[in-house]
Amino acid sequence: MPLPIGRFSLTNVARLYQLPRLLQVQHNLRAAMSSSPGYLINEPKYAWLKDLGLEEVNKGVYSGGAWSGSGNRIDSICPANGRKIASVVEGTPEDYNKLIEAARAAWPAWAETTPPARGEIVRQIGDNLRKNLQLLGKLVSLEMGKILPEGVGEVQEVVDICDYGVGLSRTLSGQVLPSERPNHSLMEVWNPLGVIGVITAFNFPCAVFGWNFSLSAVCGNCTVWKGAPSTPLTTLAVTRVVAEVFERNGVPPGVLSAICAGADVGAAMAADERLPLVSFTGSCAVGREVAVTVAGRFGRILLELGGNNAILVNADADLDMVVQSAVFACAGTAGQRCTSTRRLVLHSSVHDQVVSRLGKALESLMAKAGDPVEQGVLYGPLHSPASVEKYESAVARAQAEGGQIVFGGKRISRLSSSGGYFVEPTLITGLKPDSPLVQEETFAPIVYALKCDSLDEAIRINNSVKQGLSSSLFTRDLSNLFRWIGPRGSDCGLVNVNIPTSGAEIGGAFGGEKHTGGGRESGSDAWKQYMRRSTCTINYGKDLPLAQGIKFE
Ligand code: NAD
Repeated sequence: MPLPIGRFSLTNVARLYQLPRLLQVQHNLRAAMSSSPGYLINEPKYAWLKDLGLEEVNKGVYSGGAWSGSGNRIDSICPANGRKIASVVEGTPEDYNKLIEAARAAWPAWAETTPPARGEIVRQIGDNLRKNLQLLGKLVSLEMGKILPEGVGEVQEVVDICDYGVGLSRTLSGQVLPSERPNHSLMEVWNPLGVIGVITAFNFPCAVFGWNFSLSAVCGNCTVWKGAPSTPLTTLAVTRVVAEVFERNGVPPGVLSAICAGADVGAAMAADERLPLVSFTGSCAVGREVAVTVAGRFGRILLELGGNNAILVNADADLDMVVQSAVFACAGTAGQRCTSTRRLVLHSSVHDQVVSRLGKALESLMAKAGDPVEQGVLYGPLHSPASVEKYESAVARAQAEGGQIVFGGKRISRLSSSGGYFVEPTLITGLKPDSPLVQEETFAPIVYALKCDSLDEAIRINNSVKQGLSSSLFTRDLSNLFRWIGPRGSDCGLVNVNIPTSGAEIGGAFGGEKHTGGGRESGSDAWKQYMRRSTCTINYGKDLPLAQGIKFE
């Protein structure tokens, strides 16, 4: 029988001894109830996600330096296994309205900051990204599904464009032009636009943001970024890296605002008169809607839409280079780059050889298919079940139209059984260049091999599609080369020779013609789209001569 209260008994000692343990058990229970084991972020293997500031539930709006979100809670899904990584509380159109006002409030101070001082902030952002390069790259790989080297490469692209922005901040230049009037000066002055909107696609969840943000920021704009709804964790982690630099330097936090949201907020941005420029990256169908809305309010639009890219192989091409390039361009990123090769236009003298070698190369790539975050994997999953459906539907249509599958056409059962969205890279022959299927962009690893008999015919096939993004010619003949890049050559924005259609560098202007939207981002003079140009005529004399010699007296 226990001793009376206040005196030690064995039972009381045992209770005292167990109390901390009981408290610990209670704590663990509470923790288990508040964090669902179903989320990858709660598993030791994925604990690194927390080093990026991510939690099981994340607020999806960054505005005026604070995190919020009052919309739906959505899960970010890992394409390699179909499991939930973590969740995000999205922003609503009302959240967006508040965010725009915060961005507008930040603009005057940012616009008055000198361009080199803005460049210094962008330099620090690049450095902060460098510090987080591997982790951010791993997150891109985990959430989008591209292989780790490509995930890291994508973040490196943002670092590179930050470096580019730093240089640009010292070289943004207008022209001084000769005036026809005595004692007059004619010059161009470039000023920022204000607050600009950036809407991005799932397949490049941070690079496209970087292309826009770096230029927009050094040009003196505030940027509002809506990432793709299926890659919200990348949006948040990258925004956090930028926000740290703002806080350290006392930059008005509204210089960047980010909102995780879907089409409702995207549509609100397109219609918003407070955004003088909307930069949109995504499908042609959505891009068309956005373009019409923005044009309807006389806003500026920068469109980076779908592609239907071709590699042309001339009879004199180096076929080793062709096959190596085609594997990367067709199967890399599981065919989910806007610049992925979708058509191979092969001279009839090399058609069979290229088809046979490429089919074998794709087959051997299957040994390197797997979880894209793992080292050594070269081929990952599609991004979503919807992408798998589109892939399967295109394969079925190709077969119904008489196409022959040289390799691929199915899910990869060894990998799909664990819940991932894996499909084989697919090479199809026997379809006509003008088949409706070949003329479309199927955002999946499917390439159609098409036969031709001359370079003229190959160029005609290249240019026969609605899109005009990327194109490559393989030849060793200089005269072919200049024909290809000349006025009657490729009608695309990216015109390559002896390299794949994908894998552009940041120094050039990136974008395409026709249904690809006509926009140019990243290098060259793309910065001009983020500024308004004033032509200034200054009279420093005492007379008032009119242009064209007109007399009004
Ligand atoms: P998508 O068009 O479905 O979505 C793109 C973005 O638009 C997302 O942020 C989405 O939420 C938003 N959106 C959807 N409906 C909207 C609406 N009504 N108004 C405003 N915004 C809306 O494209 P996706 O599936 O994410 O991306 C794949 C497509 O993007 C492919 O066609 C690919 O070629 C293209 N892409 C082009 C480039 C390029 O630089 N040319 C780069 C990457 C991707």
